[in-house]
Amino acid sequence: MKRRDFIKSSVAFAGALGLRSAGLGASDEKTHALSLSFDDGFKKSFYRIAEIHENYGLRACLNVIATGHLKSFNAEPQWIPQNILGDFDDWNALKGRGHEVMPHTWEHLNLTKIPVEKAKENIEKCLNYFEENLSGYEPEEAVYNFAYNASTPELEDFTLSKVPAIRTGGWLVLKGTKVNGFPVAKLPLRLGCWGHGPGFCDDYIEQEINEFLKSEGGWLILNLHGLDEEGWGPVSTAYLDTLLKRLVTVDSLTVQPTGEFVKRLRRR
Ligand SMILES: [Zn+2]
Repeated sequence: MKRRDFIKSSVAFAGALGLRSAGLGASDEKTHALSLSFDDGFKKSFYRIAEIHENYGLRACLNVIATGHLKSFNAEPQWIPQNILGDFDDWNALKGRGHEVMPHTWEHLNLTKIPVEKAKENIEKCLNYFEENLSGYEPEEAVYNFAYNASTPELEDFTLSKVPAIRTGGWLVLKGTKVNGFPVAKLPLRLGCWGHGPGFCDDYIEQEINEFLKSEGGWLILNLHGLDEEGWGPVSTAYLDTLLKRLVTVDSLTVQPTGEFVKRLRRR
């Protein structure tokens, strides 16, 4: 399916996400939802990302590695050097400020490349760690974000037996039902997303969002990492700031963390 076709077919789901009825913004006429989903847990970047979101009255969507704060973490030294990652004191502080913090793997392995039983064990260990260490974490409203956006149907089903939503690579497909003729998205959600790297992704984001805003509507999830020199496919601080400054003025758009939609669908 081409991107354009996808966006068209997703139009029906703008209503499905409750953008018009759930009061996600001041206006009840939101047709576009955007989630900027930041991965890995770079301490300096994540505090700055949170601060930039706060400046525009937004909540950041932050996904962190359960064992990233341990000195033994060594999965991806080039892109995720352990010494620049934050710990659960940081994640609790950011969550306390209203940002969303969600699980992004136990030790950052590509789960499609290890034995399936070990992959499942890693997912469980990750989710258990979040329950024990992240205050206010609610498994019933969590989004598990696969490392490398790599998953298999078996691993997706396994994870969705424990949390209501997963984020992985590819197209966003919302399973819908019809209520009074209108499509209504339902849990569990398999959220597809897109990303760009290893260099700066500013131009890519600009292009994707502009194309999305020209479409009739839907939900676009972009996977980002750190700011400036941190992480794979970083976004520049200056660009993120000007982007959010502009996006909050777009009447048809709501910028929300992915878990916000899970909450709203769950509470219906
Ligand atoms: Zn990652």
